[in-house]
Amino acid sequence: MSSPSSMNKTLFQAPHSAFDPTFWEKLYDLKLNVLKLDSSELPIRADAICSDGKYSQPVEFSSKSYDDTMGSGLATGTLVNVNTVEEFRDYDKKKALKRTFVRILTSMLTLSAAKDPSELKSFILLAFSDLKAYRFTYWLGVPAVIPDTAFTSTPIQMLRDSHFENGCSMSVELYRLLLKKLQLSRDTGISELQQVFALRAPASAWTGDQSESHSQMQHIQHADLLTFEEAWPMRHDPSVHLVVLDSTAEAGGFGWTLRNLLVMLAIHAPEEESAVQIIGLRGSVAKKLCSALSDVKGNLEAVSAQLLNLTDDEILSSDESVLSTFPISVSMVQPLVDQVCALCNVTTVSALTPEPSLGLQERFLEALDNTPEQLSALAVVGWETNERGKPGPRVADLSQALDSSYLMAQAVDLNLRLMKWRLWPSLDTERLANTRCLLLGAGTLGCAVARALLGWGVRDITLVDNGRVSYSNPARQCLFEFEDAEARSFKAVAAATRLRKIFPGVRSEGVVLNIPMPGHPLNLTPQTTAQDGEGSVSEDEVQYRRLDELIRSHDVCFALTDSREARWLPTVMCAAYGKLLINTALGFDTYLVMRHGQTQPPSEAQEDAPESRLGCYFCNDIVAASNSQKDRTLDQQCTVTRPGLSFIAAALAVELMVALAHPQKPTQNEYDGGSDDEKEEKEERKPASGAVTAAPEIPHQIRGSVAGFTQFTPHAPAFNCCTACSAPIVQTFLERGFDFVQQACQDSSVLEATSGITRLMEFVDVDDVGSDDDF
Ligand SMILES: [Zn+2]
Repeated sequence: MSSPSSMNKTLFQAPHSAFDPTFWEKLYDLKLNVLKLDSSELPIRADAICSDGKYSQPVEFSSKSYDDTMGSGLATGTLVNVNTVEEFRDYDKKKALKRTFVRILTSMLTLSAAKDPSELKSFILLAFSDLKAYRFTYWLGVPAVIPDTAFTSTPIQMLRDSHFENGCSMSVELYRLLLKKLQLSRDTGISELQQVFALRAPASAWTGDQSESHSQMQHIQHADLLTFEEAWPMRHDPSVHLVVLDSTAEAGGFGWTLRNLLVMLAIHAPEEESAVQIIGLRGSVAKKLCSALSDVKGNLEAVSAQLLNLTDDEILSSDESVLSTFPISVSMVQPLVDQVCALCNVTTVSALTPEPSLGLQERFLEALDNTPEQLSALAVVGWETNERGKPGPRVADLSQALDSSYLMAQAVDLNLRLMKWRLWPSLDTERLANTRCLLLGAGTLGCAVARALLGWGVRDITLVDNGRVSYSNPARQCLFEFEDAEARSFKAVAAATRLRKIFPGVRSEGVVLNIPMPGHPLNLTPQTTAQDGEGSVSEDEVQYRRLDELIRSHDVCFALTDSREARWLPTVMCAAYGKLLINTALGFDTYLVMRHGQTQPPSEAQEDAPESRLGCYFCNDIVAASNSQKDRTLDQQCTVTRPGLSFIAAALAVELMVALAHPQKPTQNEYDGGSDDEKEEKEERKPASGAVTAAPEIPHQIRGSVAGFTQFTPHAPAFNCCTACSAPIVQTFLERGFDFVQQACQDSSVLEATSGITRLMEFVDVDDVGSDDDF
């Protein structure tokens, strides 16, 4: 061994974190959808520890770091993602680092780290995720204990200058051995490589028996740290080297791994001073081996292809490995060993070695929490420095790196997902996002409904309207601007375009279409050639077919048209196809929002049970819808309403749809928590007991008035002679289709005859039946 005067104090390069943006993207997703308010420890792993040139010891993280099926990687640790910036600031970091080191200490004492050296690099990653700003504040701690006596070593030599006594290059022999292991790993799928291992070159290698073949490889034994029994506990044995994959960029020092490795060796070292020979593997080949180590399946093939055909000269020229000898004795860590022995009631640490780690870690953690003086010899360092070179957290700001429309899509979802944390855990945002909404009418109501749907994260909105934007519209219709009126743009198209401007993630389409209406005769002159080859059809039939196709291809239909009779055909079609229709109508100071009862096609519905079905907009009528625009003055033709009304009614219509998308009653938990005010409010929302329908808390109709600021929610059954939703009408429509519709447009009394209402009225005194003038 070298004399003390030639010994140098060893410099250890502290680790630096290197994050792939996918790590934060995954954390964003986890925090929002899985962890929510949970800030308990989450196991993660570091992907690779390979120098990127900028930092000497990067600890790399990516989305794979969360994947526990990928093996241990090069280091395992915990992520603590706290909920507030204050929590981050006040977190007891000193204690957290010690607690993390306890995991390493346990592995050292039981020697499990000798089998799996990744355990020497347990880490803690403390983070605070500001989801709204897409900023992540984090601090990485990779703990190492400070020994009582600083580590020293002989001057560092380059491995490529070292030879076995027979003249063989140690570099070449070592890499040949590792490449053989690499090939074996590739062939078997089991990693034969380790980041720390023991190497023994037998006496013949050192005495240089020239009769041996050129290569020493067959004589070099490679094993984990436990296997060479004479090498453990470490004594000075010139035939044994410990090899560490060490990517330190600084030639004058060693990586962080060695620091804890030396502590482990010291803990188990005998009283008298011994020494250990360390080879730090560095250089481009070592780096590639490192990446093969971290991900057997992903990198092995690529790395093997690059490395397996290297010549000896190529190996030599790429090798930056170093060689040094470290004196080791238990006295270097004596206070720590004494405290551990006292705490565990043993005389030497070797008594702990054969025991499984069961209980050891818990005992240490308990001591740290309750009697910290018992482990006061744990002087732990390892918090990463920030950009200014001082210990402190770093910030990952992903908002700069991400596409702005992606950020917007994430932000739209964020507000909804946050509801799931406490307020509405069973909120089905996926279902809402995938609900295809058809808005019949792109006026005051249509614009407001579309905006409320956007807010709920609905991504698929089709607007149907045949009108153009006029100067009276932009002030009340929230998707239009002055320019739309100037250009006389089609309302449906302008509204769909504006939706995409507001949120590029929405799929919106505007369809210019006349909805066939009872009492408004159709023009049946053949004009267009039908696509299905049935010959010429009229423009009105083309539009009818388009409406039919739209209703079939959407999930929910909102009837938001000005006139009452434009709601008739959509009501029939939705009843026929089992689609949900939400109907909204405005009076001057009153509103009606209702859902139509037909939720399954009549063929599947129970016969003779009209009361089990909720009514439609036309169920209260004793005459069929007809041309309501005849004989009306201007103030009667336009929807002259109080301006606030459309927003109230549109919002209620959308909220009704959202409620219907969640038919299950909220669980008891969803009513718990929150402030007293919130609790009271939730109490009021609880459904009345004894309710009979599947979702009793969801109203059939919402009728309100802003004259007296009143609102009530009646339920009304379907009328079995209804001119829109009754079985005879739906059946006739399904059988005759356009032919029936055009007949009803020509003369709406055909509906009264078909539905059976004509016959019924012969027995009823009309004066006894109330009418509903407003709607
Ligand atoms: Zn009806």
